[in-house]
Amino acid sequence: MYLKSIEVQGFKSFANKILFEFHNGITGIVGPNGSGKSNVGDAVRWVLGEQSAKSLRGASMQDVIFSGTENRKPMGFASVSITMDNSDHKLPIEFDEVTVTRRVYRSGESEYRINGSACRLKDINELFYDTGIGKEGYSIIGQGQIDKILSGKPEERRELFDEAVGIVKFKRRKAAAQKK
Ligand code: ATP
Ligand code: MG
Repeated sequence: MYLKSIEVQGFKSFANKILFEFHNGITGIVGPNGSGKSNVGDAVRWVLGEQSAKSLRGASMQDVIFSGTENRKPMGFASVSITMDNSDHKLPIEFDEVTVTRRVYRSGESEYRINGSACRLKDINELFYDTGIGKEGYSIIGQGQIDKILSGKPEERRELFDEAVGIVKFKRRKAAAQKK
């Protein structure tokens, strides 16, 4: 399984629809300060369900929508899709390719999709449990995060190991069953 592409439209500095295509291997994104490199990483965390505006470096959730420039009007929505190659079926879904989409409008209305079908955030979370890919997965290591892991509480560090060995889905199911 690997990340094949990221499509952004109206997300932060990306007003136009832009498609980043990746291949199996290492990709680096380079560019001058403020050109939008970190926004690409933010787009991935956002589509995976990040709910904290602060961690996306904004004040409100609507701040992810392109806010306009001197010669360009603001956009009415932000949309991000990531496509994963799933030919090894590491994601528990029958498709060989999985596209996850999130879109939010200025009105606050928002939607999530898996391969074009509307779904809940919960479905996206469950799709990525134990893969290291979720919004809190270890596949995205932000600035300062290594420090946080090293100085974190043992329980917080434990969550990382749970994810790596693949028992998060069982723990979540147990918690849900105990609530009933
Ligand atoms: P650095 O090298 O300094 O880390 P970077 O390439 O990572 O820079 P980003 O932080 O990704 O840059 O991009 C910051 C730019 O994105 C700023 O110019 C900011 O104005 C722009 N930006 C962020 N949110 C929006 C938005 N909602 N609408 C328009 N532009 C935005
Ligand atoms: Mg940056």
